[in-house]
Amino acid sequence: VNPKTTYRRILLKLSGEALMGEEGFGIDPKVLDRMAQEIKELIEMGVQVGLVIGGGNLFRGAGLAEAGMNRVVGDQMGMLATVMNGLAMRDALHRAFVNARLMSAIDLTGVCDSYNWAEAISLLKSGRVVIFSAGTGNPFFTTDSAACLRGIEIDADAVFKGTKVDGIYSADPVTNPDAELYSHLTYDEILDKELKVMDLAAFTLARDHSMPIRVFNMNKEGALKSIIMGGTEGTVIDH
Ligand code: UDP
Repeated sequence: VNPKTTYRRILLKLSGEALMGEEGFGIDPKVLDRMAQEIKELIEMGVQVGLVIGGGNLFRGAGLAEAGMNRVVGDQMGMLATVMNGLAMRDALHRAFVNARLMSAIDLTGVCDSYNWAEAISLLKSGRVVIFSAGTGNPFFTTDSAACLRGIEIDADAVFKGTKVDGIYSADPVTNPDAELYSHLTYDEILDKELKVMDLAAFTLARDHSMPIRVFNMNKEGALKSIIMGGTEGTVIDH
């Protein structure tokens, strides 16, 4: 462990939307390469990184169901979308000379490994980035739930949720210039103030297992590294 870093092992959650950059759909290779570089810096500091990627840039089950599709089938498409994002991220990491393994909660022999807890821990310990794709493997869940679940399973120090803004605000910072950025909130404050961090299933899982959540701006270059080094950017949620 690098004595300079505050975190030993993290679970980083990136939304699918974060990968599409300026485009309205799909994956922007420039964004992917930048994220790979940011993750590389953490690995070089000795931080172990588990990654959960969403699929909202490609498919969301709820949206497909609204358009008339069976929800379970839509969610299966959403989960497979996260595998596609995972393949793209693994490729970007490999091109950046970062060792990375892609695991999926749905068996996809020949494409990537199946999720295996013991193997994931061992890979993390040896400095590999482990990408956990296909969410929880179950419909009606989100990749935020998968992030909290895998974060708890791998005993991460915190779940890092990358967003488009600096953290959690008292109001929407895009429409309200007086919105105040919180640096720390308890799980109960989030619930009392009805602040939206992630869906309730994901949030209560984190709370029940005392898994801290750190919300930060993934679009701000270097923010992730700075927090890892003890910086106070973003919002910390714990008890
Ligand atoms: N999904 C699912 N089960 C899971 C995780 C994800 O069914 O455990 C499906 C669901 O349809 C979801 C889609 O995969 O809408 C993409 O995930 P998510 O919406 O969480 O992606 P993000 O918003 O982070 O890009």
